[in-house]
Amino acid sequence: MQINVLNELRQPVGAVSVFEFAEGATRTQDTEIGSLSGSLTLVRTNRGLLASLTASAQVSECCARCLAPIDCAVRIEFAEEFIPVLDANTARRVRAGNAGEGFRIGPDFMLDLSEPIRQYMLMLEPQKPLCQPDCAGLCPSCGEDLNTTSCGCAPRLDERWNVLAGFDASKQKGS
Ligand SMILES: [Zn+2]
Ligand SMILES: [Zn+2]
Repeated sequence: MQINVLNELRQPVGAVSVFEFAEGATRTQDTEIGSLSGSLTLVRTNRGLLASLTASAQVSECCARCLAPIDCAVRIEFAEEFIPVLDANTARRVRAGNAGEGFRIGPDFMLDLSEPIRQYMLMLEPQKPLCQPDCAGLCPSCGEDLNTTSCGCAPRLDERWNVLAGFDASKQKGS
């Protein structure tokens, strides 16, 4: 997701621009985003632009139990400062100073949101998404989806239960 910000960089410090956007399917390096919509506020700072994003995204995930594809809604909110590599008025190279770690706007003056979005998505993604809260998962013996079929496999008992089954309660001294 890229926006040309040459005009915004030519504004005086404190100038505010707001963009509304709705994007279809996009792919970042490691996440597939079904759709992304929200608003982006750009505030001119003395070094560059402060980009505040509020967006909701649809992400394709797999259920952690039955592996069915599911769509998760993810809310993304962040504010990051972007520093241009070239001065928008003089086209002279801008020294990053101690902002070297932050996001940069390339010499084409395109502000690229895909990297911060990617980073925030990785932080926000649910670790164990489920297709439904009580998903029955897959049968451990035959791999059938137990949400749609009952495969008839005998339930596998944990070995430890067999020990308990042979335990003679009468040997226990009690009242
Ligand atoms: Zn499931
Ligand atoms: Zn089975």
